[in-house]
Amino acid sequence: MATPERRARFPARLGEPQAAVRRAAAPLPAPPSGAGMDSQAVRAAMVERLRALGGMHPQALEALLRVPRHLFLDPGLAAQAYLDNALPIGHGQTISKPSVVARCASLLLDMLGTKPAKVLEIGTGCGYQAAVLACLAGEVYSIERIRALHELARRNLRALRLPNLRLLLGDGTDGAAVGAPYDAVVSAAAGACAPEAWLQQLRPGGVLVAPLGQPQRLTAMRKLPGGRVESRSVEDARFVPLKSGVL
Ligand code: SAH
Repeated sequence: MATPERRARFPARLGEPQAAVRRAAAPLPAPPSGAGMDSQAVRAAMVERLRALGGMHPQALEALLRVPRHLFLDPGLAAQAYLDNALPIGHGQTISKPSVVARCASLLLDMLGTKPAKVLEIGTGCGYQAAVLACLAGEVYSIERIRALHELARRNLRALRLPNLRLLLGDGTDGAAVGAPYDAVVSAAAGACAPEAWLQQLRPGGVLVAPLGQPQRLTAMRKLPGGRVESRSVEDARFVPLKSGVL
């Protein structure tokens, strides 16, 4: 049984009127936002794991350090945001793995050799890669065919305030004539081959990074002056399919 002394030191047992008064007077502090995933240190650890894979461009890694990936995920998945996973974003689609985003960004930076003025992303999804690209390029256009995801990306990106990023709703197999010509086109969806419009909308010397073929291979192309295209197969890939039409 509690002695009078202990009662004096621990008066606030649950259920006692006194405890209720104390709780009302001293509300719980708000839980940290992003389930604790908003820590720069968690993101920095992910970036160091990506650096260890080799071949990543330092500016691509810098961009992944800046963009809070957990903000693009359902709160129930936020704890997995800084693992190298593709995760569901609804409508049968996924957010790309950080290593894939870093690889695609590194390829375009290495091949261009300078900061890209204008980039087109095919397949906005939740908007994560679009935000990464917006940290690297002068201007980014990102097109999505599923309206609900286009709107999700708009909501996810609002807080980041990226004035150089334009989200478009449409079928990206036609590219996006509105911003052409582009220094780079990056596709987050896999097709049998690169649609003609993507190459047409590249400036001479511009690069295309896309998963192509069956089985899929991440492929890097350069449009040479004169219109010829140079192509390099980089590595095996597993992206969602490129589809036609707008939903
Ligand atoms: N960029 C995203 C990846 C999204 S998954 C990220 O940051 O993680 C690829 C996206 O491509 C899907 O949202 C899918 O709906 C979209 N997509 C597929 N075919 C498309 C097309 N023809 N035009 C535009 N978007 C397309």
